[in-house]
Amino acid sequence: MPRVQAYLLIAAGALTPFTLPAADETLPAAQIRSGGYTIVVTFAPGKINLPRSTVLAWISSAADAVSAYFGRFPVSHARIFVRPAAGRSGIFNGTTYGHEGGFTRISIGELTGQHELDNDWMMTHELLHLAFPDIAGDEHHWIEEGMATYMEPIARAQIGAIRIERVWGDMARYMPQGLPEDGDQGLDHTDSWRSTYWGGALFWLVADVQIRQHTNNRKGLQDAMRAILAAGGNILEEWPIEHVLEVGDRATGGRVLRDLYNRMKAKPVQTDLNDLWRKLGIQVNSGVVTFDEKAPLANIRRAITARR
Ligand SMILES: [Zn+2]
Repeated sequence: MPRVQAYLLIAAGALTPFTLPAADETLPAAQIRSGGYTIVVTFAPGKINLPRSTVLAWISSAADAVSAYFGRFPVSHARIFVRPAAGRSGIFNGTTYGHEGGFTRISIGELTGQHELDNDWMMTHELLHLAFPDIAGDEHHWIEEGMATYMEPIARAQIGAIRIERVWGDMARYMPQGLPEDGDQGLDHTDSWRSTYWGGALFWLVADVQIRQHTNNRKGLQDAMRAILAAGGNILEEWPIEHVLEVGDRATGGRVLRDLYNRMKAKPVQTDLNDLWRKLGIQVNSGVVTFDEKAPLANIRRAITARR
Protein backbone atom coordinates (compact mmCIF):
# COMPACT_ATOMS: atom_id res chain seq x y z
CA MET A 1 0.00 0.00 0.00
CA PRO A 2 2.69 2.63 0.82
CA ARG A 3 4.34 1.89 -2.53
CA VAL A 4 1.11 2.66 -4.33
CA GLN A 5 0.73 5.96 -2.54
CA ALA A 6 4.30 6.92 -3.41
CA TYR A 7 3.60 6.43 -7.11
CA LEU A 8 0.42 8.43 -6.86
CA LEU A 9 2.34 11.33 -5.34
CA ILE A 10 4.90 11.24 -8.12
CA ALA A 11 2.15 11.12 -10.72
CA ALA A 12 0.26 14.01 -9.17
CA GLY A 13 3.45 16.05 -8.94
CA ALA A 14 4.29 15.47 -12.57
CA LEU A 15 0.96 16.97 -13.59
CA THR A 16 1.96 20.38 -12.26
CA PRO A 17 4.53 21.90 -14.62
CA PHE A 18 6.45 23.77 -11.93
CA THR A 19 7.01 20.72 -9.75
CA LEU A 20 8.44 18.44 -12.45
CA PRO A 21 11.53 16.55 -11.40
CA ALA A 22 14.67 18.29 -12.50
CA ALA A 23 15.92 15.41 -14.66
CA ASP A 24 16.24 16.67 -18.25
CA GLU A 25 15.07 13.37 -19.67
CA THR A 26 11.68 13.27 -17.98
CA LEU A 27 8.96 13.30 -20.62
CA PRO A 28 6.15 15.79 -20.05
CA ALA A 29 2.71 14.52 -19.02
CA ALA A 30 0.07 14.10 -21.69
CA GLN A 31 -3.65 13.55 -22.03
CA ILE A 32 -5.16 11.06 -24.43
CA ARG A 33 -8.83 10.60 -25.31
CA SER A 34 -10.54 7.25 -25.64
CA GLY A 35 -14.12 6.07 -25.47
CA GLY A 36 -15.45 9.42 -24.30
CA TYR A 37 -12.94 10.04 -21.51
CA THR A 38 -9.56 11.61 -20.92
CA ILE A 39 -6.67 9.51 -19.65
CA VAL A 40 -3.72 11.28 -18.05
CA VAL A 41 -0.32 9.80 -18.86
CA THR A 42 2.69 10.76 -16.73
CA PHE A 43 6.29 9.65 -16.98
CA ALA A 44 8.81 8.90 -14.28
CA PRO A 45 12.28 10.39 -14.78
CA GLY A 46 14.34 8.50 -17.33
CA LYS A 47 15.02 8.11 -21.01
CA ILE A 48 13.05 6.27 -23.70
CA ASN A 49 14.60 6.15 -27.18
CA LEU A 50 11.25 6.10 -28.96
CA PRO A 51 9.55 9.49 -29.42
CA ARG A 52 6.92 10.38 -26.85
CA SER A 53 4.28 10.44 -29.63
CA THR A 54 5.05 6.79 -30.40
CA VAL A 55 4.67 5.79 -26.76
CA LEU A 56 1.39 7.69 -26.52
CA ALA A 57 0.12 6.04 -29.73
CA TRP A 58 0.81 2.64 -28.15
CA ILE A 59 -1.19 3.59 -25.06
CA SER A 60 -3.98 5.08 -27.19
CA SER A 61 -4.29 1.89 -29.21
CA ALA A 62 -4.62 -0.19 -26.03
CA ALA A 63 -7.20 2.23 -24.62
CA ASP A 64 -9.15 2.17 -27.89
CA ALA A 65 -9.21 -1.64 -27.87
CA VAL A 66 -10.77 -1.57 -24.39
CA SER A 67 -13.22 1.18 -25.42
CA ALA A 68 -14.23 -0.82 -28.50
CA TYR A 69 -14.91 -3.96 -26.49
CA PHE A 70 -16.93 -2.18 -23.81
CA GLY A 71 -18.49 0.55 -25.94
CA ARG A 72 -16.75 3.23 -23.85
CA PHE A 73 -13.67 3.64 -21.71
CA PRO A 74 -14.41 1.99 -18.35
CA VAL A 75 -13.50 4.78 -15.90
CA SER A 76 -13.74 8.55 -16.21
CA HIS A 77 -10.44 9.63 -14.61
CA ALA A 78 -7.86 6.96 -15.39
CA ARG A 79 -4.18 7.66 -15.01
CA ILE A 80 -1.23 5.81 -16.47
CA PHE A 81 2.21 6.14 -15.01
CA VAL A 82 5.01 5.08 -17.38
CA ARG A 83 8.37 4.20 -15.89
CA PRO A 84 11.39 4.15 -18.22
CA ALA A 85 13.85 1.35 -17.47
CA ALA A 86 17.45 2.21 -18.32
CA GLY A 87 19.32 -0.15 -20.61
CA ARG A 88 16.35 -2.49 -21.05
CA SER A 89 14.05 -3.39 -23.90
CA GLY A 90 10.35 -4.28 -23.86
CA ILE A 91 7.27 -3.73 -21.72
CA PHE A 92 7.00 -5.18 -18.23
CA ASN A 93 5.73 -4.83 -14.64
CA GLY A 94 2.22 -3.70 -15.51
CA THR A 95 -0.07 -3.32 -12.49
CA THR A 96 -3.49 -1.72 -12.18
CA TYR A 97 -5.12 -0.37 -9.03
CA GLY A 98 -8.62 0.70 -8.11
CA HIS A 99 -7.34 3.79 -6.27
CA GLU A 100 -7.79 7.44 -7.17
CA GLY A 101 -10.07 6.86 -10.12
CA GLY A 102 -8.16 3.89 -11.52
CA PHE A 103 -4.45 3.80 -12.04
CA THR A 104 -2.04 1.72 -14.12
CA ARG A 105 1.71 1.73 -13.82
CA ILE A 106 3.88 0.06 -16.42
CA SER A 107 7.57 -0.03 -17.31
CA ILE A 108 9.04 0.50 -20.76
CA GLY A 109 12.67 -0.20 -21.54
CA GLU A 110 14.81 2.65 -22.80
CA LEU A 111 15.80 0.52 -25.83
CA THR A 112 12.26 -0.61 -26.74
CA GLY A 113 11.49 -0.58 -30.49
CA GLN A 114 8.30 -0.07 -32.46
CA HIS A 115 8.01 -3.79 -33.12
CA GLU A 116 7.81 -4.48 -29.38
CA LEU A 117 5.06 -1.91 -28.94
CA ASP A 118 3.13 -3.41 -31.87
CA ASN A 119 3.34 -6.84 -30.25
CA ASP A 120 2.68 -5.74 -26.71
CA TRP A 121 -0.34 -7.25 -24.95
CA MET A 122 0.37 -5.92 -21.46
CA MET A 123 -0.93 -2.37 -21.84
CA THR A 124 -4.30 -3.65 -23.09
CA HIS A 125 -4.39 -6.34 -20.40
CA GLU A 126 -3.88 -3.74 -17.69
CA LEU A 127 -6.50 -1.34 -19.00
CA LEU A 128 -9.01 -4.20 -19.24
CA HIS A 129 -8.70 -4.57 -15.47
CA LEU A 130 -10.29 -1.12 -15.17
CA ALA A 131 -13.44 -2.56 -16.75
CA PHE A 132 -14.19 -5.23 -14.16
CA PRO A 133 -15.06 -4.96 -10.46
CA ASP A 134 -12.56 -5.69 -7.75
CA ILE A 135 -13.84 -9.13 -6.72
CA ALA A 136 -14.10 -9.73 -3.00
CA GLY A 137 -12.00 -12.71 -1.89
CA ASP A 138 -8.46 -13.69 -2.92
CA GLU A 139 -9.65 -17.14 -4.05
CA HIS A 140 -11.46 -15.49 -6.96
CA HIS A 141 -8.43 -13.68 -8.39
CA TRP A 142 -8.57 -16.02 -11.42
CA ILE A 143 -11.80 -14.41 -12.64
CA GLU A 144 -10.09 -11.00 -12.90
CA GLU A 145 -6.90 -12.29 -14.54
CA GLY A 146 -8.80 -14.69 -16.76
CA MET A 147 -11.02 -11.86 -17.98
CA ALA A 148 -8.08 -9.69 -18.99
CA THR A 149 -6.22 -12.66 -20.50
CA TYR A 150 -9.17 -13.83 -22.60
CA MET A 151 -10.41 -10.43 -23.77
CA GLU A 152 -7.08 -8.77 -24.57
CA PRO A 153 -6.50 -10.35 -28.00
CA ILE A 154 -10.19 -10.15 -28.89
CA ALA A 155 -10.36 -6.45 -28.05
CA ARG A 156 -7.21 -5.74 -30.06
CA ALA A 157 -8.54 -7.72 -33.04
CA GLN A 158 -11.81 -5.79 -32.90
CA ILE A 159 -9.94 -2.55 -33.66
CA GLY A 160 -7.70 -4.24 -36.23
CA ALA A 161 -4.56 -3.99 -34.08
CA ILE A 162 -3.85 -7.72 -34.52
CA ARG A 163 -5.05 -10.30 -37.01
CA ILE A 164 -7.91 -12.64 -36.15
CA GLU A 165 -5.73 -15.62 -37.10
CA ARG A 166 -3.36 -14.60 -34.33
CA VAL A 167 -6.16 -14.42 -31.75
CA TRP A 168 -7.15 -18.03 -32.30
CA GLY A 169 -3.67 -19.33 -33.02
CA ASP A 170 -2.46 -17.96 -29.68
CA MET A 171 -5.52 -19.30 -27.88
CA ALA A 172 -4.96 -22.76 -29.34
CA ARG A 173 -1.33 -22.56 -28.30
CA TYR A 174 -1.68 -21.18 -24.78
CA MET A 175 -5.13 -22.23 -23.56
CA PRO A 176 -4.05 -25.82 -22.73
CA GLN A 177 -2.12 -24.27 -19.83
CA GLY A 178 -5.50 -23.61 -18.24
CA LEU A 179 -6.51 -27.28 -18.13
CA PRO A 180 -6.43 -28.76 -14.63
CA GLU A 181 -3.39 -30.77 -13.64
CA ASP A 182 -3.14 -33.59 -11.10
CA GLY A 183 -3.96 -32.26 -7.66
CA ASP A 184 -5.79 -29.13 -8.86
CA GLN A 185 -8.93 -28.43 -6.85
CA GLY A 186 -10.96 -26.13 -9.08
CA LEU A 187 -10.57 -22.45 -9.91
CA ASP A 188 -11.25 -21.13 -6.39
CA HIS A 189 -8.80 -23.51 -4.75
CA THR A 190 -5.85 -23.64 -7.17
CA ASP A 191 -3.62 -20.59 -6.99
CA SER A 192 -0.96 -21.53 -9.57
CA TRP A 193 -0.06 -19.01 -12.28
CA ARG A 194 -1.44 -21.40 -14.92
CA SER A 195 -4.79 -21.80 -13.25
CA THR A 196 -5.11 -18.11 -12.37
CA TYR A 197 -4.41 -16.73 -15.86
CA TRP A 198 -5.21 -19.53 -18.28
CA GLY A 199 -7.69 -21.48 -16.16
CA GLY A 200 -9.49 -18.17 -15.78
CA ALA A 201 -9.24 -17.44 -19.51
CA LEU A 202 -10.64 -20.89 -20.29
CA PHE A 203 -13.61 -20.19 -18.02
CA TRP A 204 -14.42 -17.05 -20.02
CA LEU A 205 -13.87 -18.74 -23.41
CA VAL A 206 -16.24 -21.58 -22.54
CA ALA A 207 -18.73 -19.04 -21.15
CA ASP A 208 -18.57 -16.97 -24.35
CA VAL A 209 -19.23 -19.99 -26.56
CA GLN A 210 -22.03 -21.30 -24.33
CA ILE A 211 -23.80 -17.92 -24.14
CA ARG A 212 -23.71 -17.75 -27.93
CA GLN A 213 -24.98 -21.32 -28.26
CA HIS A 214 -27.85 -20.64 -25.85
CA THR A 215 -28.88 -17.44 -27.62
CA ASN A 216 -28.48 -18.60 -31.24
CA ASN A 217 -25.43 -16.34 -31.40
CA ARG A 218 -27.53 -13.23 -30.69
CA LYS A 219 -25.67 -12.51 -27.45
CA GLY A 220 -22.17 -13.19 -26.27
CA LEU A 221 -19.86 -12.57 -23.36
CA GLN A 222 -19.31 -9.05 -24.66
CA ASP A 223 -22.97 -8.28 -23.82
CA ALA A 224 -22.49 -9.65 -20.32
CA MET A 225 -19.32 -7.62 -19.78
CA ARG A 226 -20.90 -4.42 -21.03
CA ALA A 227 -23.86 -4.99 -18.69
CA ILE A 228 -21.55 -5.49 -15.70
CA LEU A 229 -19.78 -2.23 -16.51
CA ALA A 230 -23.08 -0.44 -17.13
CA ALA A 231 -24.23 -1.55 -13.67
CA GLY A 232 -21.22 0.25 -12.18
CA GLY A 233 -18.92 -2.77 -12.09
CA ASN A 234 -15.55 -1.19 -12.78
CA ILE A 235 -12.33 -1.50 -10.78
CA LEU A 236 -13.39 1.25 -8.39
CA GLU A 237 -16.12 -1.02 -7.00
CA GLU A 238 -15.80 -4.18 -4.95
CA TRP A 239 -18.39 -6.79 -5.84
CA PRO A 240 -19.02 -10.34 -4.63
CA ILE A 241 -18.34 -12.82 -7.41
CA GLU A 242 -21.97 -14.00 -7.35
CA HIS A 243 -23.19 -10.50 -8.20
CA VAL A 244 -20.91 -10.25 -11.26
CA LEU A 245 -22.15 -13.58 -12.56
CA GLU A 246 -25.78 -12.72 -11.90
CA VAL A 247 -25.61 -9.36 -13.71
CA GLY A 248 -23.84 -11.00 -16.66
CA ASP A 249 -26.40 -13.80 -16.79
CA ARG A 250 -29.32 -11.38 -16.62
CA ALA A 251 -27.95 -9.48 -19.63
CA THR A 252 -27.75 -12.64 -21.69
CA GLY A 253 -30.98 -14.26 -20.51
CA GLY A 254 -29.67 -17.44 -18.96
CA ARG A 255 -27.56 -19.05 -16.25
CA VAL A 256 -24.39 -19.84 -18.19
CA LEU A 257 -22.00 -17.90 -15.93
CA ARG A 258 -23.46 -19.14 -12.65
CA ASP A 259 -23.72 -22.74 -13.82
CA LEU A 260 -20.19 -22.76 -15.20
CA TYR A 261 -18.81 -21.21 -12.02
CA ASN A 262 -20.61 -23.77 -9.85
CA ARG A 263 -19.15 -26.54 -11.99
CA MET A 264 -15.55 -25.25 -12.06
CA LYS A 265 -15.06 -23.50 -8.72
CA ALA A 266 -14.25 -26.41 -6.44
CA LYS A 267 -13.24 -29.32 -8.64
CA PRO A 268 -11.09 -29.82 -11.71
CA VAL A 269 -13.14 -29.84 -14.92
CA GLN A 270 -11.59 -31.13 -18.12
CA THR A 271 -12.42 -29.34 -21.36
CA ASP A 272 -11.83 -31.07 -24.70
CA LEU A 273 -10.01 -28.16 -26.32
CA ASN A 274 -9.20 -30.00 -29.55
CA ASP A 275 -12.88 -30.72 -30.00
CA LEU A 276 -13.73 -27.07 -29.25
CA TRP A 277 -11.20 -25.77 -31.81
CA ARG A 278 -12.57 -28.23 -34.38
CA LYS A 279 -16.16 -27.10 -33.78
CA LEU A 280 -15.13 -23.45 -33.98
CA GLY A 281 -13.29 -24.22 -37.23
CA ILE A 282 -9.79 -23.35 -36.06
CA GLN A 283 -6.98 -25.31 -37.71
CA VAL A 284 -3.31 -24.86 -36.92
CA ASN A 285 -0.76 -26.55 -39.16
CA SER A 286 2.94 -25.86 -38.64
CA GLY A 287 2.02 -22.61 -36.92
CA VAL A 288 -0.24 -21.44 -39.77
CA VAL A 289 -3.84 -20.75 -38.73
CA THR A 290 -6.71 -21.34 -41.13
CA PHE A 291 -10.45 -21.31 -40.59
CA ASP A 292 -13.02 -23.92 -41.60
CA GLU A 293 -16.10 -21.86 -42.38
CA LYS A 294 -18.25 -25.00 -42.55
CA ALA A 295 -17.48 -25.98 -38.96
CA PRO A 296 -20.59 -26.21 -36.72
CA LEU A 297 -19.64 -23.18 -34.57
CA ALA A 298 -17.87 -21.12 -37.25
CA ASN A 299 -20.49 -18.37 -36.93
CA ILE A 300 -19.79 -18.15 -33.20
CA ARG A 301 -16.04 -17.87 -33.85
CA ARG A 302 -16.66 -15.04 -36.31
CA ALA A 303 -19.02 -13.22 -33.93
CA ILE A 304 -16.52 -13.25 -31.05
CA THR A 305 -13.99 -11.07 -32.88
CA ALA A 306 -16.47 -8.99 -34.89
CA ARG A 307 -16.39 -5.27 -34.13
CA ARG A 308 -19.70 -3.97 -32.86
ZN1 LIG B 1 -3.70 -8.82 -14.88
